[in-house]
Amino acid sequence: MDSARSWLQKLQPRDKMRASSRKKNTFDECKDEEKSPEDDESLSNTTKQKVAAAKQYIENHYKEQMKNLQERKERRTILEKKLADADVSEEDQNNLLKFLEKKETEYMRLQRHKMGVDDFELLTMIGKGAFGEVRVCREKTTGHVFAMKKLKKSEMLRRGQVEHVRAERNLLAEVDSNCIVKLYCSFQDEEFLYLIMEYLPGGDVMTLLMRKDTLTEDEAGFYVAETVLAIESIHKHNYIHRDIKPDNLLLDRYGHLRLSDFGLCKPLDCSTIQEGIFQ
Ligand code: ADP
Ligand code: MG
Repeated sequence: MDSARSWLQKLQPRDKMRASSRKKNTFDECKDEEKSPEDDESLSNTTKQKVAAAKQYIENHYKEQMKNLQERKERRTILEKKLADADVSEEDQNNLLKFLEKKETEYMRLQRHKMGVDDFELLTMIGKGAFGEVRVCREKTTGHVFAMKKLKKSEMLRRGQVEHVRAERNLLAEVDSNCIVKLYCSFQDEEFLYLIMEYLPGGDVMTLLMRKDTLTEDEAGFYVAETVLAIESIHKHNYIHRDIKPDNLLLDRYGHLRLSDFGLCKPLDCSTIQEGIFQ
């Protein structure tokens, strides 16, 4: 907590800080000193709100760190137990534990790194919609290829679509299914929101229909069956899609179908649906 204390101290006005560090040293004592009525009056509401927000931020940050540390310990204990039960030589056990520690360190480093648009090299444009565009992009450090969906914040605000975009991001982050497009990360800058998704090179079913005009019965049956599975997988998470159409059905490199574009999806409280309504 020491770094947090010194950080909070920096937030105080300079002369007050000097006075407080002359007299008292600990964070709690500084807090007592802040409580004098004169000081309370001299602080504007905005400053008080900023202090409360900073305090909340720091508390959450350290709570999260403690949780992560605890989870890391638990993962190690589980692996140690599994290795003890399995028929593995001591050398292999040590190697596996070292491998886990290496992965944990890599994971922590990745978490510390804040992703941004500069981490990607932007390639071909593959779609253009109401709020922005979809591009193929390459992550600079790994060379991995993704699809980047870029949404203009002002446009979403103007059309009152903020809740829809939030639902889109939440659904993609929550639902881990082979039938829907995978989200790797999301971030924002001043102007745009970004969704970094797996790139599906097979294109969308609309393009397929335009190229083929008519599908055989077997082909149609296959795509319909995979669409039904995809819709079921999001219903299981209590979301409805509300925009099922060929351009939102994408194909992966093996020809399997993934449902995408959750910009109109809606979380649904199934407990409020009357039983038997669909019979
Ligand atoms: P919009 O809300 O503008 O319709 P979509 O998410 O449907 O946005 O994307 C528009 C188009 O971009 C899609 O119809 C598809 O052709 C292409 N696209 C979107 N996501 C991907 C992806 N992950 N991989 C490949 N193409 C994609
Ligand atoms: Mg779409």
